[in-house]
Amino acid sequence: MTSLPLIPVDPDAPGARRAAMPPQHLADLDLAGRKDLVTKLGEASFRARQISTHYFGRLVRDPALMTDLPTSSRERLADQLLPRLLTPVRELACDDGATRKALWRLHDGSLVESVLMGYPDRVTVCISSQAGCGMACPFCATGQAGLTRNLSTAEIVDQAVYLAGVAASGKVAGSPPRLSHVVFMGMGEPLANYNRVVTAIRRLVAPAPEGLGLSQRHITVSTVGLVPAIHRLASEDLSVTLALSLHAPDDELRDELVPVNQRWKVCEVLDAAWAYAARTGRRVSIEYAMIKDVNDQPWRADLLGRLLAGKLAHVNLIPLNPTPGSRWDASPKPVEREFVRRLRDAGVSTTVRDTRGREIDGACGQLAAAEDSGTDPAGEMTA
Ligand code: SAH
Repeated sequence: MTSLPLIPVDPDAPGARRAAMPPQHLADLDLAGRKDLVTKLGEASFRARQISTHYFGRLVRDPALMTDLPTSSRERLADQLLPRLLTPVRELACDDGATRKALWRLHDGSLVESVLMGYPDRVTVCISSQAGCGMACPFCATGQAGLTRNLSTAEIVDQAVYLAGVAASGKVAGSPPRLSHVVFMGMGEPLANYNRVVTAIRRLVAPAPEGLGLSQRHITVSTVGLVPAIHRLASEDLSVTLALSLHAPDDELRDELVPVNQRWKVCEVLDAAWAYAARTGRRVSIEYAMIKDVNDQPWRADLLGRLLAGKLAHVNLIPLNPTPGSRWDASPKPVEREFVRRLRDAGVSTTVRDTRGREIDGACGQLAAAEDSGTDPAGEMTA
C-alpha cells in the first residue's frame, strides 16, 4: 500500500504559500455588504439591490446589459462589483444537449470545470470548489494533479449563476428552464475550503436579489470525509444534503482509495455522517464507485450493508468512470447487480447513478481541466 499525505493540504494555513485570490465580486458579499460598498463608491445604496437583481434575479452577468444603470455609474459599479471571474474556454455538450460541461479560466490562469445536467423534472449543476484537489484519491482524475488553490465564494457562485442562465435560455431541451439543484461534486474537496463554500451555499439559498433562491434540500455537499468539518457543517443552520465518498467499507482498502482515511477511519467518518443526519434530519448519501475486483466483492457488500443497516442513509453506486492512465475498470454489470441485491437485502436503500457526461470527460472523477484534453465530437466553442 502506498503511503500518502495524512493531513489534508490547507492553503489557508498560516505559513502556507498564499495563492492569488481573485478580486472581490458582489457574490462574495451579502446584500448589506453590497450596499456598504456601493455607498463608499459614492453611489446611492439602492444601486446594490438593482445590480443584484440583474445578477441573481435575471441571471444577467454582463454589465453592458444593465441599461437601467446610468452609464457614468455603470462602469464604476461593474469594476467593483462585477469583475470577470470566469472566462469560458470551452463548452462541450452531449446527451443531445442535456449534459454540458463548461471549462473556465480563472484570473490567475487556473482552469476549473462545471457540468450542467438537464432531466425531465429538474436541472442540476455540478460545481467546483477548488482548482485541483489535494485529496489524492488514485481513481479520480482531479486528484492526480494536486491542489492549485481554493476558489473564492464568488468564483463558486458564478459557475451556478452562469449555468442557470444557460438553462434559462432554453438550451437544455426537455428540461425545466429553472436551475433547481446544485451539487458540490466538481473539482476539489468542498470541506477543505470550508468558509467560502458555506458562504457560497448561503448565497445559493438566499432569496433573490440577495441570492439565487434555491432550496437548501436541493444542495448537496460531497466530501471525502473531513470529520471535524462534517461536525461543523452539522452545526450551521443549513440542511443541505451530505454525500460521503466512502468507496470501501474497511480501513485497509479505504486507506488506499481515499487516502484521508489514514487520518479519519471508516467508523469515525460514519459516526460523523450519522451525527449530521441526526442533527439535520437529512438522509446521508453514501457514494461508492464500483471498481472491478477492487471494492466490488460480495463480502464487501455485506460488510457495507451491516454498517449502514438501520441508518438514515442511501447508497449511490457509481460505475467507475475511466480516467487517463488508470489501472482500474468499472465492475461488470452482473457484479454490480449482486452488490445492489446484497445491500437491499440488508435493508439499505441503493441506486446506481446514471453517470452523465462520460463522452465529454464530464462525469464523476473525470474533471481534470486539461485544456487540450480529448477531442470535441459534440461540442462547440463559446469563448
Ligand atoms: N472531493 C469531494 C467532491 C468530489 S465529488 C468528494 O470526493 O466527495 C466527485 C465524486 O465522484 C466523489 O464521490 C468521487 O469519489 C467520485 N469519483 C471520483 N473519481 C471517480 C471515477 N473515476 N469514477 C467514478 N466516480 C468517481
